[in-house]
Amino acid sequence: MARVLFINGGSEGHVNPTLGVVQELISRGEEVVYFSIEAFRERIEKTGATVRTFDDQKFIQAFISGGRDYVLERINGLLLTADIVIPSVLEQIKDEHFDYIIHDSMFGCGRMLAQILKLPAINSCTSFAQTKTTFDKMIEPFFSKVPSDIVKPIHDTFQSLTDRVKERYDVEIHSPYEVFCNPAPLMIVYTTREFQPDGEAFDPTYKFVGPSISARLTQDGFDFTAIKGVNPIYISLGTVFNQAIDFYKLCFEALGNTDHTIVMSIGNRTQVSDLGEIPNNFIVKNYVPQTEVLQYSALFITHGGMNSTHEGLYYGVPLIVIPQSADQPLLAEQVLKLGAGVPLQMRGLTANQLREAVDCVLSRSSFKKAAASIGESFRKTEGYQQAVHEIFEFKSQFQI
Ligand code: UDP
Repeated sequence: MARVLFINGGSEGHVNPTLGVVQELISRGEEVVYFSIEAFRERIEKTGATVRTFDDQKFIQAFISGGRDYVLERINGLLLTADIVIPSVLEQIKDEHFDYIIHDSMFGCGRMLAQILKLPAINSCTSFAQTKTTFDKMIEPFFSKVPSDIVKPIHDTFQSLTDRVKERYDVEIHSPYEVFCNPAPLMIVYTTREFQPDGEAFDPTYKFVGPSISARLTQDGFDFTAIKGVNPIYISLGTVFNQAIDFYKLCFEALGNTDHTIVMSIGNRTQVSDLGEIPNNFIVKNYVPQTEVLQYSALFITHGGMNSTHEGLYYGVPLIVIPQSADQPLLAEQVLKLGAGVPLQMRGLTANQLREAVDCVLSRSSFKKAAASIGESFRKTEGYQQAVHEIFEFKSQFQI
């Protein structure tokens, strides 16, 4: 039995795929101490892990204060979270021994903690993977196209924050890539090599284990009788970029009082009562058990989050992808390329366009077929079980 330090941030999309991994690790005898935020305590504890938390409000505040318009600003935000996460983790694990660390690909300063604690490290990558080369290509336009009076102060802040990290924690940061992607000697990526853009470009330290979808063990109290046998359309913009009252109303306009049954998850930042009159064919909730709802659905209108996209396709559901931010345009592109759905632009979207896209995806069997075939390839993978297999291989290499 080894003791595992698991470091994550506080976002659902980064936590969900790890739940199966942790449960499986524990069933194979590992002891897991999992750092996240209080909101996820219950679902993480149900895996059998010991949960410890850091201050979520201060964490989000620090992250946002880096700025959100450019990737390097978000990287500065991640660096600003170091002072929230690192002292708190170090204080809470004082005098404890760990054999290895598994950390999120983005949140929680995992790479820095691995260096401070001198632990063998594994990266849990809940987005598409990036190499230094693909990352540099992504960030290059920021340096070459954005006016230098914008770039310079952001870059200066990056420099001073990395100096601060060096001074406070004795950790050298060599590039923005290290902060954004937290590379580690073993990279667990929750997709297939085929679905990953440029999948062949990744060396064997990247293990594409497939989507990690496991029972979430939460009681959502959703009544499935209304959607059984009616092939509903499911709409969700995920858990982060979901403050979109106008979009939800546009869905009413496009699909209200039609023959379709619609399940719409609006997130916790919008009240159902803010949406006015709800058409009879809509079931609107702040949160639904998505992986179960998808198993009944004929179509998923999604923001194209990494998890939502994989979950939809895993169950063979074609998609309309309306990207909001982050890596979502990339997911939309992949879905289009593989013929499993169509992308739409949020900006300027009309009810007519949405209705036409729904009719198009539902009436052409090619979308359903492509989604079914990707789903089959996803279901052939072993997700979290494969992840744990790779983790045990890694342990034996490090003689843990
Ligand atoms: N989710 C859910 N019910 C909801 C909305 C979202 O269970 O009503 C889950 C969904 O299954 C997925 C995660 O929240 O696992 C969202 O992650 P994703 O990467 O798709 O998007 P994000 O929320 O990070 O933008």
